[in-house]
Amino acid sequence: MTSDNSNIFDDLGLNPVINGRSWVTILGGSRMVPEVSQAMYEAADRFIDFNELNKLAGERIAQYTGAESGLVVSGASGGLLMQAAACMAGSDPDLIMQLPDTTGMKDEILIHNKHRFGYEVCYRTAGANLKEWGAGDKPLTEQLRSAIDDQTAAVAYVFGPWLSCELSLQEVVAIAHERDVPVLVDGAAMLPPAENLRRYIVEGADMVTFSGGKGVRGPQSTGILAGRADLIEAARLNMSPYAGVGRASKVAKEEIAGLLAALERFVSMDHEEEWATWRQWSETIVDAGKDIIGLKSVIEDGDPNRQGPTAVFYFEENWDGPSSSVIQQRLAAGSISIHVGTGSYADELYVSPVALEPGEAVIVAEALRAEFSSNN
Ligand SMILES: *Cc1c(COP(=O)(O)O)cnc(C)c1O
Repeated sequence: MTSDNSNIFDDLGLNPVINGRSWVTILGGSRMVPEVSQAMYEAADRFIDFNELNKLAGERIAQYTGAESGLVVSGASGGLLMQAAACMAGSDPDLIMQLPDTTGMKDEILIHNKHRFGYEVCYRTAGANLKEWGAGDKPLTEQLRSAIDDQTAAVAYVFGPWLSCELSLQEVVAIAHERDVPVLVDGAAMLPPAENLRRYIVEGADMVTFSGGKGVRGPQSTGILAGRADLIEAARLNMSPYAGVGRASKVAKEEIAGLLAALERFVSMDHEEEWATWRQWSETIVDAGKDIIGLKSVIEDGDPNRQGPTAVFYFEENWDGPSSSVIQQRLAAGSISIHVGTGSYADELYVSPVALEPGEAVIVAEALRAEFSSNN
């Protein structure tokens, strides 16, 4: 299938953007690989039994993740919503239709104070109350143990840039499981590396969710949910094609087909080769800051807070050119709109290579060079 859909964007008068900020939803997520578009196109024109499709897709996800069961959800956000619904209402038809009113159900999800994040609203959408732990003076293990009570529906554990607590997932799992409380992992942006597909399940998570539309490069609206069979079954019953709280985050058959195609590619591709290509692009980009006074230009490779081997320009004391945010704005407003990041660690500008296409690194480098040598 040729990619004709850009014509609609052209008709609307939308300018294409070079994405140096990684798989961010605000720029369109990721670029679907051709086998994904093809799978969606082929799925679009036929009817199937949706429950059968969910079951078979779930079996595939179970194979890829090593979990008992799997489900395609609407983004990792949809995964968080379904995790919460599954842990509160389970598979009970009346409780499912009662949510987000949790009267009579366990409805607290424990979250470490260093794991608080914007997407926790997805847990609350299902009706859960978040109960924070981790800020006290006692050892964390003790704090977690005493935070669990008869209202605890689950313990959340979030993997993400800038979010980390001192207790490992295994330690949290061990304590939660003493009381038969399930542990819910958000690993939305943790793929690649592909090993993470299995890692959290091996470490004892009861359910884990990943974005399908970030590094996996499936449809932007998809997510992966994997875990214990009874909980995944509960999640399935709380969402479309039924009318529970998850109905509003429907996943279409085309999206399921697309995600499966993306996953198949993702688990069989050469990730080292892809990383090497990203690294090469970052070398091209970081060269734009070479020999410029007041700039420290480096590639940060393997930093858990960065997506891929990232070109970073630190603005030092003796930098007297335009500020990082001025450069960022000018690049975005240029005749070729280039989006870069600023300010993760310090006064810095960064370019993540993971959403670039061949040829774009050179364009980004040239634009940066022009900005770095302008003196206002
Ligand atoms: C991106 C992200 C999400 C949301 O994922 P979607 O697939 O866009 O719904 C949730 N949690 C974390 C940590 C993320 O990075």
